[in-house]
Amino acid sequence: MKAEVELLDCPACTHLVSSMAPACPQCGHPMNSGSRSVTTIQGTSKSIKAVKLLALVIIFGGLYKGVTEAESSYFALALSGLALYIIAVFAKWWFHD
Ligand SMILES: [Zn+2]
Repeated sequence: MKAEVELLDCPACTHLVSSMAPACPQCGHPMNSGSRSVTTIQGTSKSIKAVKLLALVIIFGGLYKGVTEAESSYFALALSGLALYIIAVFAKWWFHD
């Protein structure tokens, strides 16, 4: 009879852990794939939030500079910030689906 147990690297300490084990015996890091995918989604939405914030800074910074300095290239910058914001909204929708 062939054993179906895989060995996985613990993400916390790189100790080899059986795929059947709920946690790493070396450091206690949880090994079930369910909690790992939750961590990935949380990390993704966090970075999308950072991109959205950056996009808002570019939009309002560009608009402010464009108005106060009457320089059209700042409006182009604001527009690219808007495009970045739309991409971030789309990415959020994509990863949450
Ligand atoms: Zn470990």
